[in-house]
Amino acid sequence: MNKALKNIISGKITKEDILSLLILDDAFEVYKAADKIRREYVGDEVQVREIIEISNYCKQKCLYCGLQSQNKKLKRYRMTPDEVVDRVRWSIPLGYKTVVLQSGEDDYWTDEIVCDIVKKIKEMDFAVTLSFGEKSYDTYKKYRDAGTDRYLLKHETCDKELYKYLDPGMSFENRIQCQKNLKDLGIQVGSGIMIGLPGQTLDSIADDIMLFYEMDYDMIGISPFIPHQDTEIGNSHSGDVDLVRKAVAVTRIILKDVHLPVTTAFSTLNEREGKLLMLASGANVIMPNITPMEYREMYEIYPNKDSKDIEPFVYKEKLLALLKDAGRSISTSYGHRIKH
Ligand code: SAH
Repeated sequence: MNKALKNIISGKITKEDILSLLILDDAFEVYKAADKIRREYVGDEVQVREIIEISNYCKQKCLYCGLQSQNKKLKRYRMTPDEVVDRVRWSIPLGYKTVVLQSGEDDYWTDEIVCDIVKKIKEMDFAVTLSFGEKSYDTYKKYRDAGTDRYLLKHETCDKELYKYLDPGMSFENRIQCQKNLKDLGIQVGSGIMIGLPGQTLDSIADDIMLFYEMDYDMIGISPFIPHQDTEIGNSHSGDVDLVRKAVAVTRIILKDVHLPVTTAFSTLNEREGKLLMLASGANVIMPNITPMEYREMYEIYPNKDSKDIEPFVYKEKLLALLKDAGRSISTSYGHRIKH
């Protein structure tokens, strides 16, 4: 067996070994090891988390994201609070037990409005994940008191210079502080990165994985960067899907019981085949989009999002068929991380 792989499996985690796995031409052994560890620690059940994109207004200027405030071509929308709650009620027959609400950084969603929505969703017996960007400790505390179980806030890249360039007005340090605050409050934290950002190095991706290990996140989304034509870096290349797959596998081997989604961006580049490959290389989470059809086109973080035209009940049929082929099933639990 590859020596670096052996070290990492045995719990000796170093950046050098991570890097040497990321540059492998043939990473079959790594995928196989990740698949085995995934089965041992989180089993064959796939966690399904439905996601509703509630608003595409955003005050930030992230160079990679189609929702950036300077993108004047994008038609903006915002669901009403009642519409959000109704959509979750509508989704009950789908049988998923956990819902993610995501939005651009949109100040319309005051603490009061968000907490009211969370309480109403909790009454319907769902685990609730929010993904609204960077907020104060106090706001996260209110979210928690209302019943929020989890929060998604990817650190995007740990290369501080690159972060500063790509996210004008924001800082890597504050991003990490937000994650620490969430963790401190007992909210499960989802982080993650994009792979293939212009200027990003393999060395920094190894650092990202070391950070996953140090921060011990509950969920980690690793996705390829996909250029959006109406952004400053729209002429760049998409991220390398094999590198994404290797990063996911290595992360599984290191963090063992963590939740790792098949990121939508990955399926976008490599649809059905992509999902199967990721599920066989360490991933155990799928996030079906249940945003009302009329808004989907407008939540364009990157172009050609996977399954964006597929109605949720039709998607579920496809998902069941896919999981059957993969020898996996849908979890009926709330999908909390169970630490070993
Ligand atoms: N505003 C929230 C959530 C919305 S963006 C937040 O800041 O967390 C959700 C995620 O989409 C981002 O964390 C980023 O990792 C991803 N994303 C944005 N632009 C992308 C692109 N061009 N390609 C791939 N992923 C992208």
